[in-house]
Amino acid sequence: MGFFDRYRQAPPSAFGRMRHDVVLCLADAALAGLWGLSGAIRRMASPPETDRTTALTVADRQVVAHDQDVIALTLVGEHLPRWHPGAHIDIHLASGLVRQYSLCGDPAIPDSYRIAVRRIPDGGGGSIEMHDLTVGASITTQGPRNAFPLTVPGYGSPARRFRFIAGGIGITPILPMLRLAQQSPHRRLRRR
Ligand SMILES: Cc1cc2nc3c(=O)[nH]c(=O)nc-3n(C[C@H](O)[C@H](O)[C@H](O)COP(=O)(O)OP(=O)(O)OC[C@H]3O[C@@H](n4cnc5c(N)ncnc54)[C@H](O)[C@@H]3O)c2cc1C
Repeated sequence: MGFFDRYRQAPPSAFGRMRHDVVLCLADAALAGLWGLSGAIRRMASPPETDRTTALTVADRQVVAHDQDVIALTLVGEHLPRWHPGAHIDIHLASGLVRQYSLCGDPAIPDSYRIAVRRIPDGGGGSIEMHDLTVGASITTQGPRNAFPLTVPGYGSPARRFRFIAGGIGITPILPMLRLAQQSPHRRLRRR
């Protein structure tokens, strides 16, 4: 029996009488109401950050920017944790390297993640290993985690306008933010 279950069983009376005490019954009802309300709030909250390790399969690989050597990978798996724009996953590569990649697909798609990776020839080797992945390859991921959340006007944010500035591969976390901004009833987008 949990903490709240034990404390929600109000005794008949605080003074040992057998009749139920009105004050205790009212306190009991108030506590139950608050617990129910907090449950509704917990259900509305953002998806929890997760450190869960997930095995994913490369389902699609496309070159999306020849000049910058960028590929987009679609990674599929089962019961994937939900995410919000700005989130990234850690990818554990076969070499032992761990690299982070922003999720740039649609958060509404439940069973796949989309990432884009720029090949850096003189880097630490992680992006080259990512580019060598072929369709059907298995990878281990951790997350998603969000170190770059978008605060949305009308949902607790005082912001009245969005302005997105991105350069190069830095566009990846911005893409789902743009989608969310376009869906916002408060939107006023000016493209450049
Ligand atoms: C939250 C997050 C999200 C990211 N999202 C993306 C994404 O969506 N797409 C993407 O392509 N990348 C993304 N990255 C970068 C990605 O994780 C890798 O760093 C990238 O793929 C390069 O990996 P690498 O092993 O080839 O090079 P790395 O070893 O990571 O090196 C990257 C660059 O830094 C330089 N460098 C490394 N160490 C040093 C040092 N000690 N001193 C000076 N310079 C150094 C390297 O020369 C190279 O130019 C993200 C990173 C983070 C933290």
